[in-house]
Amino acid sequence: MEFDFSYQFSPEEMPPPQKKRIGLFGSTGSIGKQTLDVVRSNPDLFSISILTAYSNHEMLIEQALAFMPAVVVITDTSRYKAVHEALSGKGIKVMAGEAALEEAASMDCYDLMMAAIVGFAGLKPTLSAIEAGKTIALANKETLVVAGDVVMKRAAEKGISIIPVDSEHSAIFQCLVGEENNPIEKIILTASGGPFVGKKPNYLVNVKREHAIAHPNWSMGAKISIDSSTLMNKGLEMIEAKWLFNLQPNQIEVVIHPQSIIHSMVQFQDNSIKAQMGLPDMKLPIQYAMAYPRRIKSDFPRFNFTKSHQLTFDPPDIKTFRNLGLAMTALHKGGNLPCILNAANELAVFGFLRNRLGFLDMTEVIEQTMNNTPFIAEPTLQEYLDSDGEARNFAASLINL
Ligand code: NDP
Ligand code: MG
Repeated sequence: MEFDFSYQFSPEEMPPPQKKRIGLFGSTGSIGKQTLDVVRSNPDLFSISILTAYSNHEMLIEQALAFMPAVVVITDTSRYKAVHEALSGKGIKVMAGEAALEEAASMDCYDLMMAAIVGFAGLKPTLSAIEAGKTIALANKETLVVAGDVVMKRAAEKGISIIPVDSEHSAIFQCLVGEENNPIEKIILTASGGPFVGKKPNYLVNVKREHAIAHPNWSMGAKISIDSSTLMNKGLEMIEAKWLFNLQPNQIEVVIHPQSIIHSMVQFQDNSIKAQMGLPDMKLPIQYAMAYPRRIKSDFPRFNFTKSHQLTFDPPDIKTFRNLGLAMTALHKGGNLPCILNAANELAVFGFLRNRLGFLDMTEVIEQTMNNTPFIAEPTLQEYLDSDGEARNFAASLINL
């Protein structure tokens, strides 16, 4: 889809900001909680209309009492009673179950969806929000990895914007403002490299959950932290970038930049490279997506150029971090392969987090699942959903889940 970056304004002409009503899907997670911080800091700009969680009903109740949304959804139906009782008489509609996420996503009570559910589970509610004509602030990268063509096509048909929240994609999006007629030569996604940058397989084979989950620069949910440590996260981001910015696979490059100051770059046809920089803090891309096309003032700590810093760049070690290589294969081959890769990875990470799989075994599960799930070159949405199920079954059989 083409982004419309043509919004022009001078401060005098700028209309008074209208309060955006946020539907926050995945409110109890890392992105969810930081979104609520942004809303708390900007009560004149944002209000919360929908909150959703999977099973953390205690935090969901706390958030609902603080932000008084119109609707809350708890996906795990066994927690419905507790949420319903705690919020009774407050004028908050309480819903439960997977289908309730889609129902809430199609409601009139909000303007912008913050898509912050983790994994494949984010796809259907996001599609439902697109159908309802909502603007999407997209944190859930798996949505585009699984069915990027379907999602972007439907968004274009409905004329709605998908604004990236992922820091690299937000960086690229910010670099593209004002460049709508200038073709991109390539984009350069930066990767911190995670906690094991520079390590080799003889070290990785012994890595445990606690090591892998501790990211040096970012504090994130468990799944994305593991994905960062295997570099699968960067692979998923390459696929995400392909769909968001309508790129060919060979226009997407990855570079290891352990300081996480440059969040990504765009190289144009005249060989000019634009970068977006800042200290790593997800609240910045979150609030940028929520407030776009405005920038809102923040009190986040500033990067200090008068101090000595080293910004370094190295090629990724795909031989050691084979998950990135598998994701590149999926990116190049296309069809349902990224969907299969994603499903196998979700199960492999699940297995690793529960100590059922070793660190390097995750790669084996993903590779075997990619080799054993039927390939479809141009899948329909239903075929994507079926491929996800088949790949999950195959991966689960390898892990003995
Ligand atoms: P978390 O694991 O911290 O939070 C996930 C949220 O989704 C929680 O609210 C959780 O509810 C809910 N959830 C989990 N599973 C389901 C399900 N099956 N159905 C419905 N809801 C579910 O994840 P993050 O916030 O770290 O990440 C969210 C998304 O944003 C991911 O796609 C990630 O890749 C992306 N992202 C995250 C970044 C970060 O800094 N964290 C950076 C860039 C992208 P409950 O708490 O009840 O389990
Ligand atoms: Mg990212």
